[in-house]
Amino acid sequence: MTLHDTPTRAATGAPAGATPRRMIWTGAGLPASDGDGVKLTRVIGQPALPDLDPFLMLDEFGSDDPKAYIGGFPSHPHRGFETVTYMIAGRMRHRDNTGAEGLLGPGSVQWMTAGRGIIHSEMPEQAEGLMQGFQLWVNLPAKDKMTAPRYQDIAAEQVPVVDLGHGATVKIMAGEVAGVRGPVDPGATEPLFIDITLTPGGVAHIPTPDGHNAFVYVYEGDAKVGEPAEALARGRIAVLSPGESVTLASDKGARLILAAGKPLREPVAKYGPFVMNTEAELRQAFADFRAGTF
Ligand code: FE
Repeated sequence: MTLHDTPTRAATGAPAGATPRRMIWTGAGLPASDGDGVKLTRVIGQPALPDLDPFLMLDEFGSDDPKAYIGGFPSHPHRGFETVTYMIAGRMRHRDNTGAEGLLGPGSVQWMTAGRGIIHSEMPEQAEGLMQGFQLWVNLPAKDKMTAPRYQDIAAEQVPVVDLGHGATVKIMAGEVAGVRGPVDPGATEPLFIDITLTPGGVAHIPTPDGHNAFVYVYEGDAKVGEPAEALARGRIAVLSPGESVTLASDKGARLILAAGKPLREPVAKYGPFVMNTEAELRQAFADFRAGTF
């Protein structure tokens, strides 16, 4: 399939008049290491793309070499935002200072609202085999930064998979596509967070809430993004223009993450695992953590 015979938006059920998004910036993730030596690719939260309000970080991890993940993420704190872990392959056990514990398996999602503070560990529950997935950090508005911590642990079976036709299927973790809502109970940023699979020649037309910032990341194959369609290779992120929808296509097949969120437009003071609005709040977070009041 070439660019000019990509099915029209009308053929994929796109509403007439919806403003299509296009790529306005693209870049590659940077190799990084976090936790106890876990090798990952930092896509958002790196010099070329420090954040994309309300998204603060996107890490991709994926290796079948245990040395790249076996150290895991030993006990560490968070305050002021949400961490979203989406597992594609492998198992990760989390434990926290409230005694909560859970096992994330392939296809599962953990949406953790750190709020006023949590101390947890995220450790591989395997000594060999593939470990693959994503961690996305979503900011909280000032009014919710000190909310009570909350977990949404979502098993793979609870994540709806919708066949959109035209060679496109979508797993909906958060937000709504084709009248199907994902299981995550959204906060103030009303996120859309989906995993799209395109077969060779597949095309998808995804509605994206107007006014939300949005990005697409290709983690398998290669894609064409937006209107006009522009190529996006594996390992690259596209920041999208404002609009009500995005068209995604692939010649050889692809798997992509699409996320959109309502920008908070609030000052960000962040250091490591704390994301607040002011330097004073950041200092308080360190003081509270050291005092053991998390
Ligand atoms: Fe964490």
